[in-house]
Amino acid sequence: MNTTPPDNAILLHACCGPCSITPVLRLLDQGLLPTLYFYNPNIHPLPEYLRRREGLLAVAQRLGVDVILPDQQDPADAEPDVWLAAVAGLGAGMADMARRCPLCYDLRLERAAACAREAGFTRFSSTLLYSKYQNHQAILDAGVRHAGPGLDFLGEDFRPSWDEGIRLSKEWEIYRQPYCGCLLSAHDRYRKAVRIKT
Ligand code: SF4
Repeated sequence: MNTTPPDNAILLHACCGPCSITPVLRLLDQGLLPTLYFYNPNIHPLPEYLRRREGLLAVAQRLGVDVILPDQQDPADAEPDVWLAAVAGLGAGMADMARRCPLCYDLRLERAAACAREAGFTRFSSTLLYSKYQNHQAILDAGVRHAGPGLDFLGEDFRPSWDEGIRLSKEWEIYRQPYCGCLLSAHDRYRKAVRIKT
C-alpha cells in the first residue's frame, strides 16, 4: 500500500476466509474500512495453507475489500519454520494448547501490528476474535501487547456473528477447514476421529 490509509481504515489480521466474513461486515457496519492481512505461518502443510489463502482471497473479492499478502511474491513462502521457532521453546509442552496457542496468536499479531505501522494504519484487529474455539482472552492480550502509541487494537468480540459467518461461507462455497492450522491441531483432530471409530 503506497498511499496513507483513510481515517476510518483498519488492518484486520485474517486467519482464513470463513472467519473473515462477519468481522469485515461488522466493521463495515461501524463505518470502518478493513484491509485484510493474511499472515499465518501456523497453517500446515503447504497445500492446506494455499487452500485457505485462496478462500481468503475469494471472500475479499466478494466483500470488495483490499488484501495485503506478505507472501505476494511467492505464495509458497508460508514460513512454517517461523511458527516452529515460536513454539520450540515449549519442548514437549507444545502439545498443550493452553501453552502453544498464546504464542501462536502473539506471533501473528506482532507481525500484523508491524505491518499496520509500516503501512500507516492507526488501528488493527484480528478475525481470530470471531472463533468460538480460540482462547479469546489470550488473543486480546496479544493484541494489546502489540498496540502502542499511534496504533490501537480493536478488541471487538465477533463471536455473536458466528452462525451468520458459517451460513455465508457455505452459501459462497468458501473452503472450510477441518482443523485449526498447525500439525498438532491436525493430529488432535484425526486422533479424535480414530478413537471414535475404534
Ligand atoms: S491450535 Fe491453532 S491457534 Fe493453537 S497453535 Fe495450533 S494453529 Fe495456532
